[in-house]
Amino acid sequence: MQTGEDPAEALLAQTRAFAEHCVAPRAARWHRQGQFCRNTLREAAALGLSGLQVPQAQGGLGLAFPVKVQMAECLAAADFGFALSIINTGNVAWKLSRDAAPEVAARHLPALLSGEKLGATALTEPRAGTDLAAIETTATKERNGWRLSGEKAWIVNAAAADLIVTFAQTEPGSGASGIAAFLVDATRPGFTRLPPPKITGPASIGTGSFRLDGYHVKGDEVMLPPGLAFRTILNDINGARTYVAAMCCGMVAAALRIVSDYGTRRKTFGQTLSQHQGWRWTLAETEVDLAAARALVSEAAKRVEAGADCRHQAAQAKIFATRMALRHLPALGQLMGAEGLRDHYPFGRHVEGARIAGLVDGTTEILLETLARRHIPKEGETR
Ligand SMILES: Cc1cc2nc3c(=O)[nH]c(=O)nc-3n(C[C@H](O)[C@H](O)[C@H](O)COP(=O)(O)OP(=O)(O)OC[C@H]3O[C@@H](n4cnc5c(N)ncnc54)[C@H](O)[C@@H]3O)c2cc1C
Repeated sequence: MQTGEDPAEALLAQTRAFAEHCVAPRAARWHRQGQFCRNTLREAAALGLSGLQVPQAQGGLGLAFPVKVQMAECLAAADFGFALSIINTGNVAWKLSRDAAPEVAARHLPALLSGEKLGATALTEPRAGTDLAAIETTATKERNGWRLSGEKAWIVNAAAADLIVTFAQTEPGSGASGIAAFLVDATRPGFTRLPPPKITGPASIGTGSFRLDGYHVKGDEVMLPPGLAFRTILNDINGARTYVAAMCCGMVAAALRIVSDYGTRRKTFGQTLSQHQGWRWTLAETEVDLAAARALVSEAAKRVEAGADCRHQAAQAKIFATRMALRHLPALGQLMGAEGLRDHYPFGRHVEGARIAGLVDGTTEILLETLARRHIPKEGETR
């Protein structure tokens, strides 16, 4: 970074260059070979991307949430899975800096910030997805800590993660109020990594599952106690919804650039594709929706940063951006003709990324319900 340069701008410029030169050219191979991108994640961490929100005093960059959102957009333009993977390690680093006992944070942060270790956050289980409060992994109090048993599934990075913020039920039957968050170290006894599911989406996301059989959590490894944990998830998830929406914008923007450029070179009926009105209107339609999605993302990001209530803004941004990506990415691919099927172009990968965007951190249906519920009159209220 040059003296006097804005650190956020400098980081975003580096991230753009990194996405273009290191992520995009490798992404097709990761996808084709079902490969997880371990080494490239280390390179991303070396730029500071896994410590973006961690305070400088704890070794991070201490940058604001809207910078993370822009980073997410830049990286997803190259590969959705890679972006979500580095962000999830960053999320664990940030949660450690915010929620963990200082000595626990100091012990683990350096390895997460250098990319030597990967992080994951595990709520979902084989029998509990959208209904988060229904998780069945139990946490039983024992001498000097807690004993965890249960199974987690569909977790970003769990195919390789070293440190996993794991949510478990401390009082079966108590629902949300009994849920607490614990730091789980994948190298300790009682942790078993399960074979990752074979999915049609990007392998770079590192989706995986694991089982805990009487895993012992030390007393100071409780990240969030019962009561506070669920409230914190509901708050943090608004940030996640916002950056996932930004990632959809990144994928669409990348596809738009590729198609626009191709349209100036490919000729049919004696003219370039861009000279055919019926061809170029799709680009304009995409630009309109992309601008609208970015405006929703920007509003939600500002509210997250300000600590304001942003449930509805984050839900609107994610619903709109996900649907925008699912609608426009196939249409943009179509504008390339057969050429768009070549696997060095991201159209297919990005469509799969957009499908995942519609599931993670609140499915489109659940977010619609969050917004729709405002229309039910409260008890005693007349309309
Ligand atoms: C690639 C990938 C990565 C993921 N990463 C993580 C991670 O890092 N950590 C983590 O904890 N989880 C993760 N998840 C899990 C994700 O959050 C869940 O898949 C999601 O919550 C949906 O749960 P489910 O798949 O069990 O769907 P289900 O709960 O079985 O629901 C099935 C469908 O029914 C709809 N539905 C359910 N209830 C209602 C209702 N009341 N009204 C209307 N529609 C309804 C849902 O929207 C969905 O479309 C990941 C998932 C994927 C695919």
